[in-house]
Amino acid sequence: MSHKQVHPRSPYRSPPSFKDMAIKYPRFRKFVIQDLSGRITIDFRNPEALHALTTTLLQRDFGLEVEMPLDRLIPTVPSRLNYVLWVEDLLRAAGVSADTPVHGIDIGTGASCIYSLLAAKSKGWHMLATDMDADSYKCAEENVRINKLEHLVQVKLVDATVLLKGVVAEGQQYDFCMCNPPFFSSEEELGAETKSRSPARPPPRGARTGSPSDVVVSGGEVAFVSNMVRESKELGTTIRVYSSLLGHKSSLGPVKALLQEAGVSSQADTWFCQGRTTRWYVAWTFAAGCDLQGAAAQTAGQPAKRKEKAPLAWTVPRPGDPARHTLAVVGARVKEMLQQLQMSVRGLRNNDKIQSYQVTAFDNTWSNQRKKRRAAAHVDSPKKDIPAPATVTGDGRRSPGCPDARCDGATGTGEGTSEPTDSARDKIAAEKNAPSTQEADAKQLEASGGGTTGLKRPVEDMISLSKKLKTEAVGCLLRAGVAVVRNGDDIVLEWCFLEGAGGREALHQVLQYFKNNFKL
Ligand code: SAH
Repeated sequence: MSHKQVHPRSPYRSPPSFKDMAIKYPRFRKFVIQDLSGRITIDFRNPEALHALTTTLLQRDFGLEVEMPLDRLIPTVPSRLNYVLWVEDLLRAAGVSADTPVHGIDIGTGASCIYSLLAAKSKGWHMLATDMDADSYKCAEENVRINKLEHLVQVKLVDATVLLKGVVAEGQQYDFCMCNPPFFSSEEELGAETKSRSPARPPPRGARTGSPSDVVVSGGEVAFVSNMVRESKELGTTIRVYSSLLGHKSSLGPVKALLQEAGVSSQADTWFCQGRTTRWYVAWTFAAGCDLQGAAAQTAGQPAKRKEKAPLAWTVPRPGDPARHTLAVVGARVKEMLQQLQMSVRGLRNNDKIQSYQVTAFDNTWSNQRKKRRAAAHVDSPKKDIPAPATVTGDGRRSPGCPDARCDGATGTGEGTSEPTDSARDKIAAEKNAPSTQEADAKQLEASGGGTTGLKRPVEDMISLSKKLKTEAVGCLLRAGVAVVRNGDDIVLEWCFLEGAGGREALHQVLQYFKNNFKL
């Protein structure tokens, strides 16, 4: 699965260059570091660095000067923009004309006041921003003032029991409300979410930002949103489109059920993913003849499209002994080489026309083999067989992401492929250790109807069979398919890239390794 779903109209679909930002913005430059591969990045565990990233992007891309204390939630700009753009889709779907002034409510605006500032500055919408935290309220108000947006944004300090009723002005119609609710039901739950569950798990990579009042609410987000649903039922069409973000996928089902119960006339949901953090968004309306599904269709389930590329094919050299030039012998040799590379190998098809495998690599064991052997021979080390450390190559830039409670994929860049999350690492370990035999896989495919005799083109065949394999691990360096097939008198290896941080470049390198080392 692609881990990247950014709103189609977001400028952050192409990640900003940290290098350029560092050159132009001294406050950002202070936090820039070079990682081992020479890439310019920042320490995502440092709240000051996150703060610099957010304020710099707001200034650079929206002309907004925003201040917020380090002990409050530091919002990531791309994720906030995704929500604002989705609201714009919802308004369009709800028939709100782009030519009339738009009025929205931002529940729990936070110290940054980010949604309201983005909405006012980039869309010209009128916003009523609320918060129950006196310090956040003060800071939000100051941010509005500094940016001279008082004519569009009004900030209101509210009681914790107030959501929408008691906020909406008498006789005023609103086009939408949006909300990023506190996610957790207790500080313990918040702790559990980010705590390492096994000693093998690495510590979180990103800083946790946000005070308890930012992130904790009694009953968690489902309780918070269910109060919103209840109030929305009473307010009806006073607000045309209601919406909320959800921090946990598990909240989506219960919230949708509540909406059904409330008798909404239309509802929609979507998700966006930034760095390695996914957020879900739900919207509903009581307005008759208003179909919000249109907005969902525009954005949902459209991960950045992968370009169809030609397969990589290589004709294996003929051996001196023609009797060895058979699919069975070549297939066995391919499998042996893959295993030498310590890849996890799963059989896809095995018949007289084709032998194909799905292979997964977690480390780069194929690059610079000669150099490594020489180095191993020189360094009088007992550990000669240890593979080289993982190197992310080519376009597989790592995005540090953020496993933090409230720091949504804190790269703020939407950049590259994500580092595996902690749970992904567990899955990888499980897959690495799982005794995955070709026979077992072939049976699994057979049972799922994959083992038919009619053969499509090898690459299509591998892609569709791979989808049927129960492969849960994410975050591998390379997952690919390789098929051994006949082409006239030749035997050809056809490779296809499936996924992985190393990108197609890693697959090219593996093919090169085969060209250099294949002997029958
Ligand atoms: N919108 C900001 C902040 C989200 S954190 C952002 O996306 O970055 C959640 C915010 O909701 C906190 O600032 C918290 O103080 C506020 N909050 C919690 N309960 C509230 C309520 N009943 N009414 C208004 N704000 C509330």
